[in-house]
Amino acid sequence: MGKIYRISGPLIEAVGVDDARMNDLVKIGERGIIGEIIKLDKEKIIVQAYEDTTGVKVGEKITSTREPLAAELGPGLIGSIFDGVQRPLDKIFEKEGIFIKSGTSAISLDRKKKWNFIPTKKNGDIVNEGDEIGYVKESSVINHKILVPPGYHGKIKEIKKGEFSVEETIAIIQQEGLSNSEIKMIQRWPVRKARKTLQKLPPDTPLVTGQRVIDTLFPMAKGGTAAIPGAFGTGKTVVEHEIAKWSDADIIVYVGCGERGNEMSEVLTTFPELKDPRTGKSLMERTVLIANTSNMPVIAREASIYTGVTIAEYYRDMGYSVALLADSTSRWAEALREISGRLEEMPGEEGYPSYLSKRIAEFYERAGVVKTLGNKIGSLSIIGAVSPPGGDISEPVSQSTLRATRVFWSLDAHLANSRHFPSINWLSSYSLYTPLLDDWYKKNLPADWILIREEMKSILQNEAEINELVQLVGYDALSEIDKLIVKTGKMIREDFLQQNAFDEVDTYCSLNKQYKISKTIIELHNKEVGLISKGTHINQIKSEEADERIAKMKYIKESEIDRYFIETMKAISTVGEDI
Ligand code: ADP
Repeated sequence: MGKIYRISGPLIEAVGVDDARMNDLVKIGERGIIGEIIKLDKEKIIVQAYEDTTGVKVGEKITSTREPLAAELGPGLIGSIFDGVQRPLDKIFEKEGIFIKSGTSAISLDRKKKWNFIPTKKNGDIVNEGDEIGYVKESSVINHKILVPPGYHGKIKEIKKGEFSVEETIAIIQQEGLSNSEIKMIQRWPVRKARKTLQKLPPDTPLVTGQRVIDTLFPMAKGGTAAIPGAFGTGKTVVEHEIAKWSDADIIVYVGCGERGNEMSEVLTTFPELKDPRTGKSLMERTVLIANTSNMPVIAREASIYTGVTIAEYYRDMGYSVALLADSTSRWAEALREISGRLEEMPGEEGYPSYLSKRIAEFYERAGVVKTLGNKIGSLSIIGAVSPPGGDISEPVSQSTLRATRVFWSLDAHLANSRHFPSINWLSSYSLYTPLLDDWYKKNLPADWILIREEMKSILQNEAEINELVQLVGYDALSEIDKLIVKTGKMIREDFLQQNAFDEVDTYCSLNKQYKISKTIIELHNKEVGLISKGTHINQIKSEEADERIAKMKYIKESEIDRYFIETMKAISTVGEDI
């Protein structure tokens, strides 16, 4: 048994720990606080505690669990709220109230609950790791597939049917030349290691978020990676919440490592009440929440990212599309910096460790569309918010994140200040997925979707240039067509790009509705271009009715949008008839 000989905040040095290995978990002191071995010397080990070490004394015992930090995977994850090391916060809150005592250990998955296991394989079938052998109904919308755990394969000797807890045996597999293996519904996986897959595939389907500026202009792919850097108050959390609520992923894993406790409590109180627009069921029926508690040391935040991504990969392996939302990854990077500083490592840029970029890249590499070990297609999308100090994205965390991700939603403090939300800047943002998704758009959306999108982008760019010109020469000096571009640009910004997350209708906008709003804007624009090219002045064009109808369109319910669209197109067709 090891002995503690030095304590410096969350870092503990100890000697005499048997069989100490890098990244294994240890139990510290009488209270059994959890920690992770982060450095090994000849005689001593250095441990990072996941909890407050106040009260721990030199000389107290320390023992290795001989296991790395691992996530418990099995039915019961959906609808749960865990902390960064997967302790079920909802259950702990019930028992102990909001302040968790350090040393509180709680098992992640309910051991008593019985699940109705329905086998999809039979005796004699040959199975390999990752193959589905049955499922349980985990929530009203998710069938939790039970997969052969990693490392197992062989012939099914026995497979059961009926009510079982996660630790009961549901099948026995005979491995050639080896003894029989009992299969249970629970498995463990070390969180710092990506789960195995057969193959990575290119992303080809959009992750539809219901947010117009994202879906139409800067789309995210299922299996893709996106970064949302932005200064405090620019709307990162709201964007992450909107995607968690409305995106068409099957499963959402939300990792909240925000510094503001109330942000997480907002998620905890609002999510259970929200309904999924596709199923009409509570969003918690497809969501796993991971939150850092206020009394865990900063470095415990480091683990939450990995716990989250491991749970997300586990559902991906069942063939689901999973979206992981992390808010904010800067807190995670700060944790790395703090640990590195305490270890007295050579600092890199701005005090971050030199391996910061590598760690960030490795995290985002766990995203992707994959062929799973069980030959299913699953996807894991990762969307990370970054909070650069002062909003300056030249700092190392933003830069490393931008290198590792393929979508950049550039949050703009000027837009946020002028209450343009989401404050995603249409000139500096980009999505490298757009060309990969165009085939999907061609197959699934009206033929002119791509054309309309490109026209909107080009009008917005022209508008920005013309606005610069206006500063120099004044509006009256503009040509009639430039005046029109100023008008349409404003219309695109206000009636299409701006979207109110707190409006019951506007918070979610289907692709059909996105198309219809953008179509009417471009239809009207082209009509006006036609009139101007015949010599009409812009102030002679009476477009008030059409303008008003377009402005109101985002507040029209999904069920009424088709009718409203037809009437708006009629109004546009009459523009210019009086000239
Ligand atoms: P950050 O996480 O970047 O600090 P928040 O996401 O908390 O910023 O957003 C700050 C505020 O901006 C919100 O409380 C809200 O008032 C406003 N806001 C952000 N996005 C939207 C939106 N889409 N619709 C309406 N208001 C928004």
